[in-house]
Amino acid sequence: MRKFKTESKKLLDLMINSIYTNREIFLRELISNASDAVDKLYFRSLTDKDVQLGKDELEIRVAFDKDARTITVSDSGSGMTADELEKNLGTIAHSGSQEFKDENDFSETDAADIIGQFGVGFYSSFMVSKNVKVISKPYGSDEASIWESNGIDGYTIDAAEKAHHGTDVILTLKDNTDEENYDEYLSEWKLRSLIKQYSNYVRYPIRMLVTKSRALPKPEDAGDDYATQYEEYTEDETINSMIPIWKRKKSEVTDEEYAEFYKSDFHDFTDPVRTITVHAEGALSYDALMFIPGRAPFDLYSRDYEKGLALYSSGVLIMDKCADLLPDYYGFVRGVVDSSDLTLNISRETLQRNSQLRAIAKRVEKKITNELVKMRDNDREDYELFFDNFGRSIKFGLYAGYGMKNDDLGPLAMFYSAVQQKYVTLDEYVEAMPEEQKDIFYAVGESVERLRNLPIVKTVARKGFDVLLCTEDVDEFCLQAMHTWKEKEFKNVSTTDIDVASDDEKKVAEETGEANKELLDAMKAILAANVNDVRIASTPTDAPATLTTAGPISLEMERVLSHGPDADRIHAERVLLLNAQHNVFETLKAAQASGDQDKLRLYTDLLYNQALLTCGMPIEDPLTFAEEICKLM
Ligand code: ADP
Ligand code: MG
Repeated sequence: MRKFKTESKKLLDLMINSIYTNREIFLRELISNASDAVDKLYFRSLTDKDVQLGKDELEIRVAFDKDARTITVSDSGSGMTADELEKNLGTIAHSGSQEFKDENDFSETDAADIIGQFGVGFYSSFMVSKNVKVISKPYGSDEASIWESNGIDGYTIDAAEKAHHGTDVILTLKDNTDEENYDEYLSEWKLRSLIKQYSNYVRYPIRMLVTKSRALPKPEDAGDDYATQYEEYTEDETINSMIPIWKRKKSEVTDEEYAEFYKSDFHDFTDPVRTITVHAEGALSYDALMFIPGRAPFDLYSRDYEKGLALYSSGVLIMDKCADLLPDYYGFVRGVVDSSDLTLNISRETLQRNSQLRAIAKRVEKKITNELVKMRDNDREDYELFFDNFGRSIKFGLYAGYGMKNDDLGPLAMFYSAVQQKYVTLDEYVEAMPEEQKDIFYAVGESVERLRNLPIVKTVARKGFDVLLCTEDVDEFCLQAMHTWKEKEFKNVSTTDIDVASDDEKKVAEETGEANKELLDAMKAILAANVNDVRIASTPTDAPATLTTAGPISLEMERVLSHGPDADRIHAERVLLLNAQHNVFETLKAAQASGDQDKLRLYTDLLYNQALLTCGMPIEDPLTFAEEICKLM
C-alpha cells in the first residue's frame, strides 16, 4: 500500500467528508480527463506515423452495473504506464496547484473553489465512491496496470490485463445512507442527463448502451383482439451533441448552458455577467463566443495573468490563449474564436502578421465595447459591479492610450461623484456642470470618505461644483493622460491650478498677500526645506492652511511614483495656502508683529504639519510635532 501525499490526503478528506454538495460533477471530471487523454493520442497520431487510429476509435464510454453498483468511464486515449499512474493519481501536485500546496487551512467553501480551480478533478470520484479502480494501458504497449484505492489510506498499483489501449475508471459507489442515495447514479436517465448537462460539447462521442423497446411484428395467426407486443433491446447511443456551443445560434442556447460551458471551460465558479456571440459570414467567416466574468481572477493584475481567447480552426484548437485577439484593456474577457478561414499550421510568429486575425480582433473589440455600453445604459447595477471588477483595466487603457483611446474607452470610465455620492460617467459629470464651471475637478486620496471631508473638496462642492473622488493609483494618471473631456480640462482640486474663486475673492487674496508680505516671507524661510511657496488662498476652506501643489506633479502622483525608477527626479512643488479669514491667521500676524521668532517658527511648523495630516500625508517628524503640541498646552 502506498500512501497519498499529505496534500492529497487533506483534500480528499475534505471532499469526501465536507458538505460540498455538488457531488454529481464527478462524472464531468472523469469525462473531461477521458477527453484529454483521447486528445493527446489524437494529436500524436497527427505527427507520429507509428500511431494509426481507426476513425471510430476515438470515443468515450459510460456504463453502469446495477447489481455490482459500479459506474465505468472508459476511453480509447493515450493510457498511462504504472509510473504515470503513480505520478498522476498519487498526488495532486500537478496542474498548477502550487497555491493549493502553500495553503494549509481549508474551509468548506474553499473546497468548492479548489475543485474548480486546480486540477484535482479525478479525486472528486471519491465523493461518490468507496473504491476506485483505474485500469490503463498505454498505446503501443503490451503492459497494462491497475491503480486501486478506497480513498482513505492510500492506493495500490499492480500489473493487470486489458485488451485495448486507453483507460477504464471503475467506481464502486458508496453505500446508501439516510441522507444520500447513491443508487440514483445507477440509472440510464440520470447518467444521460448528467452527460448532457456537463459534457455536451466534448468533441468526442460519449457512448452509452441504452435500453429501448420496439414493437414485435404481428404474428400471422393473430386474431382481431391482438394487442401489440413489445421487446426490449439495447443499443449504443451517442449522448452528447458534440457541436461546439459557439457554432449554435444564441436563441437556441439557454443562459444556463452558456454559464455551464463558461464555468467548466474557463475554470470559474461564478456565472459570467455577459455572454457575447458573433457569427460572421462573408469575406471572413468566424464564430466567437465571449464572456465577461462575474468577478476578477485573483491574478488579473499580476504578471502571471495571460490574456487571450482560445483560437480554433474549424473546431480544432490552434492555441489556448491567443493574446493578439484582445487588447490589453479587455484582457479580462474570456472566450473562443473559431474560423474556417484560418489555416491550422499557423504559428505564434505569423499570427501577428495575419490580416484575417487582425480583422477578427478589431471586430471582437468593437463587440465588447458595444456590449459594455449597452450594459452601462440598460443595467447600471450590473455595470457598477463590472466596473468594480474591471474598471482598473479600462482606466489603464485610457492611460496607456494617452488620449488616443478617449473616444473608445472614455465613455466606459466612471468615477465617484462627491456631490451625487455615486459613480458617474464623465458625460454625466459634464452635463451636470453649471455654466460658469470651466474645468472638471477631481481629488485624489485613499478613500471616498476621506476625500469627501477634505476641506478643499467641501469648499468646491459648496460653490456648486462637483468633484470626482479618485481612490485608485491609476486614476490621476488616467485623467492626466486623457488631458481633456469634451474640451474641459481635468484639474486636481489640491493644486494652485484650480480656478473657482470669484474675481472679488482673487483681488482680496492678492491684496492680503501684499499687505502681509513680510509674514509670508518669514514663513517661507522657516519652511524652506518643506515647501516652495507660502501664499494666501483665494478660495478659503474651513481649514487654517492647506497644502497644495503647483505644476504637473501632484502629491499623490509623487507618492505613487516614489516606488518607481524615477523617484529621485520626481518632486511635487509644494505650496502652503493660508486662510486669511481664519482666526489662526490673526495669531500668525500677531506673532510676526511681536518679533518673537521662536513663536512664529512654532506656529508655522504646527500649521504645516496639520496641513500634511488633513491631506492624508505622513508627518515628517512626528516626535517634534508631538513636543510642539505639548509646548502649546
Ligand atoms: P487534471 O485533469 O486537471 O490534470 P485530474 O485530477 O483530473 O487533473 O487528473 C490528474 C491527471 O491524471 C491528469 O492530468 C492526467 O495526466 C491523468 N489522467 C486522469 N485520467 C486520465 C485518463 N482517463 N487517461 C489518461 N490520463 C489520465
Ligand atoms: Mg481533469
